[in-house]
Parts: sequence; C-alpha cells; structure tokens
Amino acid sequence: MLNTNISTDKKPALFLDRDGTLIEDVGYMKSSNLIKWLPKVQDTLKVFVKNKYLLVVITNQSGIGRGLLEEKDVTSIHSKMNEQMLDLYGIVISKFYYCPHHPEAIISKYRINCLCRKPGKLLFNKAIRELNINTKNSICIGDKLTDLTAANAAGIKKLFLLNKIPTKIRPVASFQYTTIKSWDEFQSKL
Ligand SMILES: [Mg+2]
Ligand SMILES: [Zn+2]
Repeated sequence: MLNTNISTDKKPALFLDRDGTLIEDVGYMKSSNLIKWLPKVQDTLKVFVKNKYLLVVITNQSGIGRGLLEEKDVTSIHSKMNEQMLDLYGIVISKFYYCPHHPEAIISKYRINCLCRKPGKLLFNKAIRELNINTKNSICIGDKLTDLTAANAAGIKKLFLLNKIPTKIRPVASFQYTTIKSWDEFQSKL
C-alpha cells in the first residue's frame, strides 16, 4: 500500500519515465499530435495524487542534441500532456525534467557526456531538491533498466520495470526491482 504517513513536510513522488512508460514510444516525438497515453495510466496516477504524491517526469530527449527536434518541441509536448491530464482527469504533473544531450550529438552545445542523461542521476537529484521530495517513500517506474539505475542512485528504492513484452531474460541489476507487464499490474502491486 502507499505509505503517506510521513513525519516531515517532504512529499513523496512518483517518478515517471515518459516514452514507453506514460505514452507510446514513437521515437524522437516532435509533435504533441502523436501523444498516445498507455492504458490505465490515468487511473493509476489518480491514486497517487489522492495519496499526496507528486508526479515527476524525467526523460532523455537526445533527439534535441541529434538535431531531430528542438527544445520548444519537447516543452510544447509536455504542456500538452499536462493540459490533457488536467482537463480530462484533474491530474497535475508537478514537473517535467528532460536531458537534451548525447555524447555524439550533432549540435555541439548538446554534445557532452552529461550527468543528467539516464542512467545519470542528476535530474532526479535536481527534482528531489527543487520539489522537496522524500525519497524514502518515493517510487519510480520506467521501461528501461537505465531509468531505474538513475532512480536507485538518487536513493529511490521502490522500483518498477514496465516490461510490456515480457522476455524470459530478466535484466540483471545490482539493485532490487519489480517487473510488471502493465499499469494494471503496477496498481495491483502497490
Ligand atoms: Mg522509456
Ligand atoms: Zn544531459
């Protein structure tokens, strides 16, 4: 069960990967017209909001560095996502954090080995600081092990790997995580 019985004023958060976790991964999404929410996302997010969790999206967007999209494309997709969540479900996503970098980016200002691209933990740390998050009760869900590696390094220990097409081989990690096939299953394991 979700534990919100916390003695500090810090709030827990549900850390969310974007592509392949909240919405379908179409690869370097440039337009908000392509947003397709995965089934049962909204139902589950509502449960978290009701339990006073902040919703924080952390996403690698190397398409920016690769010159396939611009920062303004990414921010407009994020405002659209927020708009849809709020209008249709009354859900507020507290903040979106994105990493535009890639070591082989074609646009030079984005060509760095940054610490914010997952599995780097910098964006998690930034969110924890800026939004005054209690990591102890926080949860992270992502569709790649790198999402969870970053969260784990930032001190988040309740980790869920959304594995829509389950493979026999479970990715090996040096930390504990739970594999789920769908948002339905995620909700049932909380
Ligand atoms: Mg993903
Ligand atoms: Zn970065």
